[in-house]
Amino acid sequence: MKTKSPPGEHKTEKTVHRSAPRVGFVSLGCPKALVDSERILTRLRAEGYDISPSYDGADVVVVNTCGFLNSAKQESLEAIGEALTENGRVIVTGCLGVEEDRIRREHPDVLAVTGPHQYEDVVAAVHEVVPPQHNPFVDLVPPEGLRLTPRHYAYLKISEGCNNRCSFCIIPSLRGDLSSRPAADVLREAERLVDAGVKELLVISQDTSAYGVDLKYAESTWQDRQVRARFIDLCRELGDLDAWVRLHYVYPYPHVDEVIPLMAEGRILPYIDIPFQHASPSVLKAMRRPAHQEKTLDRIADWRRTCPELALRSTFIVGFPGETDADFELLLDWLTEARLSRVGCFKYEPVDGAAANDISDVVPDEIKDERWHRFMARQQDISRELLLKKVGQSIDVIVDEVDTEGALCRSTWDAPEIDGSVFLNGEKDVVEGDIVKARVVHADEYDLWAER
Ligand code: SF4
Repeated sequence: MKTKSPPGEHKTEKTVHRSAPRVGFVSLGCPKALVDSERILTRLRAEGYDISPSYDGADVVVVNTCGFLNSAKQESLEAIGEALTENGRVIVTGCLGVEEDRIRREHPDVLAVTGPHQYEDVVAAVHEVVPPQHNPFVDLVPPEGLRLTPRHYAYLKISEGCNNRCSFCIIPSLRGDLSSRPAADVLREAERLVDAGVKELLVISQDTSAYGVDLKYAESTWQDRQVRARFIDLCRELGDLDAWVRLHYVYPYPHVDEVIPLMAEGRILPYIDIPFQHASPSVLKAMRRPAHQEKTLDRIADWRRTCPELALRSTFIVGFPGETDADFELLLDWLTEARLSRVGCFKYEPVDGAAANDISDVVPDEIKDERWHRFMARQQDISRELLLKKVGQSIDVIVDEVDTEGALCRSTWDAPEIDGSVFLNGEKDVVEGDIVKARVVHADEYDLWAER
């Protein structure tokens, strides 16, 4: 996901006298980084800063970077360069911020560099460049904070950091160990979002199923009762709010079974995003994946017995060092049997500082490519088959956009940005955020078409 102030397109904006200093913002990376951006913006807005939609109108530009893959780092460095060219006063934050030397080598003119979650430091750096001006008319911030997503859905971050040590990942060294928010804090934020019109809450973290482990599942007070910081308790409480609740980044630990009945009862969406990454035990071991010894196919079958509507989304990596032909064939067989609804696949890319770089047996690029194409082709067949079964069914959809051609929607099986769409061609009698029933009339391997 990428949100960005449009570069240069407001270059003709006139300089007008204004009382509030203005901050431009470029937000790169994953939904977790997006939530960080929202927090920084909310804080700045609360202090009276205006948010500038263009480089030209900004007194300073904050670039929230991504440092996960080398390609993302490169994109972040380019975004910093663009902000420097267009505006000249640039503060860098986010995951790439831990590589301050590299940033300064390439862009010596940046004013400050801070790392991920260093909200205070980013705000302090902004203060230094453009001091805040307190003005009661611009200090007003909506109680739900400022968000970069459309009004009707919002990411709800329940923890930071991660206790796992997957060998291809440097997030724990960037973001630290798991640090969960107390349940009452999360629920208060969720309630504020729903009160402000949010219809869908997307629960995110690095490892949602590990929520509360670091807090030893401590209780906190929410609506005159005690709620434990435990995955199932949090899901139950979120399920009582008047919104769709979608779970991302869950690992197949045994306690995840407890949440499936809530999905069957319709309290939270019948959707789990589990980044399986592979199916071969030896590759999973080399990846040091959490829950890699679980019998996931059996578990998936059990879940489906409890909740037949369950949609499983996942991501996979092909071409991990040491992945043999046999490992890859095992992955394809597993995929065929698992019949996942939504799947993303990446070709393995080394990340500076990751333990996997020490594994010999690098898979050549042409083999990675070939495996990727075979993987995608297999999944497309599965996905097309699953979606064709929906034709004729009446389903709930949430409206994301309406234009002259109709409404762009999503079903309960589709998360924004990463999954498919449901097209209501010619539909004009709905607005963003409506949840309506529609009958599916057509399907391809990714999307559905429906009518009301
Ligand atoms: S679970 Fe693994 S891949 Fe995900 S953030 Fe933690 S260490 Fe990285």
